[in-house]
Amino acid sequence: MRYHTLLHVISGYLFQHYGSLATSSQIEKDYARLELAFSPEVIEEIQFEQLEQSISKVIPQPRDVHTKTISRREAEQKGSIKTIINLLPASLNEVRFVQIDDIDEQACGGIHVNKTTEIGDFSILKIQNKGATKKRLKIQLN
Ligand SMILES: [Zn+2]
Repeated sequence: MRYHTLLHVISGYLFQHYGSLATSSQIEKDYARLELAFSPEVIEEIQFEQLEQSISKVIPQPRDVHTKTISRREAEQKGSIKTIINLLPASLNEVRFVQIDDIDEQACGGIHVNKTTEIGDFSILKIQNKGATKKRLKIQLN
């Protein structure tokens, strides 16, 4: 839950600041990976070595994690579905929607902590290039 919620915070932060989209994520027992796609102009500007510090400042400011079920149409109209809605089966009429106050909102069926403060400290262990416009982050909770 802590890892999953952390991935929301990181991808939400990067979306807000740089318009990046999370393209895949993976959570293992003691680390997580997150792949993000950036536009070519933006990726050169980002100081990835400062990312851990910037996001670490966001997490201790308590923000609530809300979940609700909304119609697929409502979710699409929000225009904030940054990852998976287009992959949802056409037959699915309701979407579970997750919002972390001002940080992130998206369709998600995962399990989350109730507040960002429950995530705790984390480290970005590694940032790899995956082609010219993608990065893969390896993340560990401390
Ligand atoms: Zn989630």
